[in-house]
Amino acid sequence: MARTLAMFTDTSLCIGCRACQVACKQWNELGMETPQWTGTYQNQPHFTDQTYRLVRFVEEARPTGELAWLLMSDVCKHCAQAGCLEACPTGAIYRTQYGTVDIKQDVCNGCRYCVSSCPFGVVAFDKTAGTAKKCTFCNDRIQNGLGPACAKACPTESIQFGFRDDLVAKAQKRVEALKGMGFRDAQLYGADSKGFLGGLNAFFLLLSKPSTYNLPDSPKVPQRNVVADSLLSIASGVLVGLGALLAFRGRGQGGGDA
Ligand code: SF4
Ligand code: SF4
Repeated sequence: MARTLAMFTDTSLCIGCRACQVACKQWNELGMETPQWTGTYQNQPHFTDQTYRLVRFVEEARPTGELAWLLMSDVCKHCAQAGCLEACPTGAIYRTQYGTVDIKQDVCNGCRYCVSSCPFGVVAFDKTAGTAKKCTFCNDRIQNGLGPACAKACPTESIQFGFRDDLVAKAQKRVEALKGMGFRDAQLYGADSKGFLGGLNAFFLLLSKPSTYNLPDSPKVPQRNVVADSLLSIASGVLVGLGALLAFRGRGQGGGDA
């Protein structure tokens, strides 16, 4: 496999211009959508089959009582352990040689297992095409030596594209610099390849805790929860059975003494 490619989104640099969202739509020929009122400037509440990149606008109350805008250009995380890929029964979702996660539209059978298996709610079902849709990291552009359209369009370099190891080192330095500037909650999300989901190939620098951005603190592949839950159920069943057996034997012995 080639060296893993990644996108590092530094939310501290985002100005909410949505150039990334527009560039994504343009390159991927995604249609217009009627904006939905979300209570903020965010124009869709979730990813859709026509929105693969979504700029989130979050208001955070500060201890002083002031409100702060937190902006985050969100996208498929191209997880090292990808729930969508593990759930796909046809092999339509696959890992590229760059470590990213793509969908072969002509192999997708529209079963939607991937939709419910993404811990981030990224995959959307396209009713017209009858297939699952999400960000491909602009695989067609990457194959031709171009970066993803969103990263190219971002005027502030909030979205950076490159080799994962280089970007992680850069991101770590940026966190330290921000902490030095007084951003005490600055942190990386998904950069650690020993952390949740084996690390995210689209990782983020956040200025507050993940839940502020509606991100799970410790996302898991849902199928693995099912295995753990099943083992727990089996163990509980065995314990209940053992308890019943002991009670039965106890009663039998009590009856013999009488
Ligand atoms: S974020 Fe969701 S859709 Fe993207 S690779 Fe991870 S599991 Fe798949
Ligand atoms: S293009 Fe860059 S600055 Fe503009 S919304 Fe997207 S990430 Fe933020």
